[in-house]
Amino acid sequence: MTNPDCIFCRIVAGEIPAQIVGRTEHALAFRDLTPQAPTHVLVIPTRHYASAAEATGDDGAAAMGEVMRLGVQVAEELGLDGGYRFVVNTGPDGGQSVHHLHLHLLGGRRMKWPPG
Ligand code: AMP
Repeated sequence: MTNPDCIFCRIVAGEIPAQIVGRTEHALAFRDLTPQAPTHVLVIPTRHYASAAEATGDDGAAAMGEVMRLGVQVAEELGLDGGYRFVVNTGPDGGQSVHHLHLHLLGGRRMKWPPG
């Protein structure tokens, strides 16, 4: 399922260019356009879920699992040996701006906690 108005669905379809760094059958990893860390990758399910909250049922659970597994694999391949952070902004209070479920993989510097 894709949404023609969704920028990330268009990346999956190859209609918008992206720097792809990893893929599995149901997930895609590409560099964030506006990196917030030396390494900043987005990992998305190829199927459209508007947010983590929309990824319900067995399909949603499988998609979230595949996205997180690919995030770990990409982090290892990119040499983030010192660790990294996963972030999933969800809804307006979560600061979500693109309404297709995505995992931010951030690394290459020491992360602060708590976040802003
Ligand atoms: P969020 O605020 O969690 O919804 O994150 C959306 C992210 O998508 C932001 O970090 C943007 O920089 C990133 N982004 C938006 N458009 C693109 C694009 N065409 N290619 C790569 N990253 C993008």
